[in-house]
Amino acid sequence: MRIGLVAPPGAGKGTQSARIAAHLGIPHICTGDILRDHVSRGTDTGRKVSHYLDRGDLVPDEILCDTIHQALSDAIAAGGDYILDGMPRTMEQARTIHRVSSELGMAADVVLHLRADDETVTRRMLARAAIEHRSDDTEPAIQRRLALYHEMTEPILAWYAFRGILVTVDATRTAAEVGREILTVLEVLRPVIRNVPEKMRRPVDLTMLHQTAPV
Ligand code: AMP
Repeated sequence: MRIGLVAPPGAGKGTQSARIAAHLGIPHICTGDILRDHVSRGTDTGRKVSHYLDRGDLVPDEILCDTIHQALSDAIAAGGDYILDGMPRTMEQARTIHRVSSELGMAADVVLHLRADDETVTRRMLARAAIEHRSDDTEPAIQRRLALYHEMTEPILAWYAFRGILVTVDATRTAAEVGREILTVLEVLRPVIRNVPEKMRRPVDLTMLHQTAPV
């Protein structure tokens, strides 16, 4: 299965992607991890991107381009399936990935949207800062990352919904609850993905399941 992921920072992208990758036995391609690895190894790319990461800014596409091609080549070598975590972040990236991956016959079958409000994700990232010491889990960088998410990334969701491949889950619950729901929906969708053409599908919004009825 080929899976995309769109979520605000702090919604649990890394945790859920790793879990899905392990469950389905597919490569986990995480652009944030790839970039942080460059920074910690002090490569040329690492030196170019470190200040973008520290400020919570998006790394320019021309720097990311090779990283993505390499990641997709690795996914091909591993059988063609993947979960892509951290990309696309802009409509332009979404179009590029769609074009490149379609040419390779490996466009995403489903895009998961982890929905979480700003207050919840900010609280989580500040808590994580105390443990992981990520350079971008500071209050100004968190605000910048959230602003960029709303401005540049969120609008992509409408495109995936229109194409019928979007699945939205409520990511404000515990990681275990969210993970269980994701694995269940992926199993349910597996035959649909195999048998129903993309243009015949509809977006799925599971957040309704957890809303309490109005009194
Ligand atoms: P993440 O681990 O997904 O929160 O990403 C951490 C940081 O890596 C982001 O705040 C950006 O600076 C950079 N980054 C990761 N993926 C991308 C992307 N697709 N486009 C631009 N910058 C990215």
